[in-house]
Amino acid sequence: MKKNYALINFRSKSLLFFGIFLVFSLSLFAQTEGANDTSINVDWDICRYYPESQTRMSSVPVPDYIKRKMESRGTACSTFIVSYSGFTSEAQSAFQFAVDIWSNVIESPIPIRISAEFGPLAAGVLGGAGPTDFKSVFILGAPPNTAYPIALAEKLTGAEFPDGPSSTSVDISATFSSTANFYFGLDANPPGGQIDFVSVVLHELGHGLGILGFGRTDNPDNPTMGVLRNGFFVNVWDNFIENGTPVDIKSFEDPSVALLGEITGNDLFSNGPITTAQNGGVKPSTYAPTIYSQGSSYSHWDEATYPPGNANSLMTPFIAPGEAIHDPGLVTLGFMEDMGWSICGGSLAVKDFTFNTLKISPNPFTSSITIKLSNGLNDDYKINLFDINGRVVLSETKATSNGAMTISNLDNLDDTLYFVRITNKRSGASITKKVIKN
Ligand SMILES: [Zn+2]
Repeated sequence: MKKNYALINFRSKSLLFFGIFLVFSLSLFAQTEGANDTSINVDWDICRYYPESQTRMSSVPVPDYIKRKMESRGTACSTFIVSYSGFTSEAQSAFQFAVDIWSNVIESPIPIRISAEFGPLAAGVLGGAGPTDFKSVFILGAPPNTAYPIALAEKLTGAEFPDGPSSTSVDISATFSSTANFYFGLDANPPGGQIDFVSVVLHELGHGLGILGFGRTDNPDNPTMGVLRNGFFVNVWDNFIENGTPVDIKSFEDPSVALLGEITGNDLFSNGPITTAQNGGVKPSTYAPTIYSQGSSYSHWDEATYPPGNANSLMTPFIAPGEAIHDPGLVTLGFMEDMGWSICGGSLAVKDFTFNTLKISPNPFTSSITIKLSNGLNDDYKINLFDINGRVVLSETKATSNGAMTISNLDNLDDTLYFVRITNKRSGASITKKVIKN
């Protein structure tokens, strides 16, 4: 506890200190056959976005594949509707730029509505954003007792909540300080000493879209136990978190001292299959420092693994003055896809072009799946099927015949969501796709 305060106080004394302080108190209604709505308040801080005390000049601009989509009119993959309040024109332009990046990366048939306010906040507070609501969803393959941020729940079910197709209810609530020392340029080149506003908005909207878990402690200032569930529910993020052993975070007694040990063990990783594939086959490390830090711990990537200048550094807990990161990063996008988002076609890098047009059928499947590659060539492939917790449930080597191969005898698998990873044994190129057992 004392060290945690010391950390915050130390940062507070710095003239360069800024903190994003996010609290959202929200309701989750579990729909159990239309009855017994359960309400859960998410009333702890998910993100306090701390800049590091020293300027670290670094610039990661919008990657070319997103830039091309942004520059070609009318081809965004999702529609974000922002209601702005109190913004200066330069702040609004920068906010909209961050929104345009996300809308050219993730896909949803349902408009994502953001309420954005710009106004004076307490000293040292930059602002924040988060989902306005969470829902459990009842769709094939969805894990049980799992809460989804409202924008993702709407994407997965194809429905607006809570009021049906005409609903204009806000999915993400965002507030930013009008008095902080922000840089509002769009060029990813903030001067030393200034905080890049586009990077901050991009980060906070990432939380709003679902980069957050429910892992926390019983008392942020003096933790004695770790806590994961919120009522009966984990967040969809939590389904993909394990320690280095590996043991799923969900398998620990909740709440418990042991769970606190995990949340502060500096040994948590995402086992999302697509996330891992996008991280070069290595499970990416999440931020779990030995001294619990509310608003930084658990719901971010590890700062040391992804420092300023790294293409995957957007969703780390700190931002440095002079640092700009305008790329959601393939690891974050992989995690969003693991959680259920669809990523705009071609966004997730695949080295082997034949994989880009690979087809898996039937999907959903019952007893077998056929994988067809567009090149029609015969080659050897390693096929791994993972469950939602990253466990290998099937591993086979197959040769294609006319570009196709069939995996059989899948009747015994549980009816749920799986990930199939297909690796060319000769080139090492691989791709991971979602499949559903029905
Ligand atoms: Zn954050």
